[in-house]
Amino acid sequence: MENHRIIYLDNNATTRVDPEVFRAMEPFFCERYGNPSSIHRFGGEVAGDIEAARCRVAELLGAGFRDRDGIATEIIFTSCGTEGDNAAINAAFAARPGRNKLVTSAVEHPGVLAYARELIRRGRQVEFIPVDHCGRLDLEKLAAAIDDNTAVVSLMWANNETGTIFPVAEAARMAHARGALFHTDAVQAAGKVPINLDGTEIDFLSISGHKLHAPKGIGVLFVRRGIRFTPLIYGGHQERMRRGGTENVASIIALGRACEMARLALPDETRELARIRDRFEAALLAEIPRIRINGDLDNRLPNTSSVSFECIEGESILMLLDQFGICASSGSACTTGSLEPSHVLTAMGIPYHAAHGTIRFSLSKFNTEEEVDFVAATLPPIIARLRSISPYWEEQK
Ligand code: PLP
Repeated sequence: MENHRIIYLDNNATTRVDPEVFRAMEPFFCERYGNPSSIHRFGGEVAGDIEAARCRVAELLGAGFRDRDGIATEIIFTSCGTEGDNAAINAAFAARPGRNKLVTSAVEHPGVLAYARELIRRGRQVEFIPVDHCGRLDLEKLAAAIDDNTAVVSLMWANNETGTIFPVAEAARMAHARGALFHTDAVQAAGKVPINLDGTEIDFLSISGHKLHAPKGIGVLFVRRGIRFTPLIYGGHQERMRRGGTENVASIIALGRACEMARLALPDETRELARIRDRFEAALLAEIPRIRINGDLDNRLPNTSSVSFECIEGESILMLLDQFGICASSGSACTTGSLEPSHVLTAMGIPYHAAHGTIRFSLSKFNTEEEVDFVAATLPPIIARLRSISPYWEEQK
């Protein structure tokens, strides 16, 4: 692949580390490598750099609280988005000891869904709120599900497969009205849409560095001040006793810089991403019959395009795209040897013959109009070729 041009349209899976972010983290490997917990100045200075990064993260999230020392104590650094999701739900149950129920949605990331299933095994009650064919949350069912036994409601800000945005601010108010806490997995939303936590009642929010041009293996959990926080990981006194383990210093610095860059670029970048994405979708719709764009088209992430090509398999499309150096994802997962449509597409009721041929294209600031035009021109012959050998296409014609 080395001499081959790569067109990377899989940014909801992970993003390229921004070279500027990489430069910001570099000194923390071989030069400024002190332990922030050390008494000596060499380590102590690193602790200061961590606090500066913490403030930058808080600024992206619109979390304005600073303690007497000017520290954004609502921000806890974690190892990833998944840890933040688990830690938030765990802490919420600890903060609402008399309550036994989690309310979440059917389309969450496994960071929440797999933990929810584990909680069921441990005797907790979990209710999964359905979505409609556009992936929109059923707010009436949500209202009915939140009761006096609900400790926590956990809903993603934006869906990783379709980009559909949930009304999390409204859901947080609904949770509070019944005395429950509210967590949102904002892993896909952070850096792509504005977030202003101070204007909401959200109690916990998790993000992940590698979705916004920082490295893999770093995340953040926001915990609103005043909420009693029980850690998931016990150890040293790091993160004010809320997350044991020596800090991943270089990645924390990187995440701080990535958040700063995202905040400064947000409005322009969002507009440009949506423009390129919409141009891409318009080209596909004009050139390829029997396709559909999935998700809430009026309210979704600007970078995400989930496209169902009817009567063919997503994996075959991906393999042919790969020959052109084009990277995307399918909406299927391999379970017990057969390709099953993802839980998200299944929950949306996307018919089998469409769900099977679903590809997620997800853009970043590094993509160009020329790249998406190339992909849009490459796809029609690929789809025509696959349909010509698809018995299902013949049947459906
Ligand atoms: N939540 C969502 C919505 C995601 O898309 C992802 C990653 O794909 C995660 C959580 C998990 O983040 P991480 O890979 O940092 O654990």
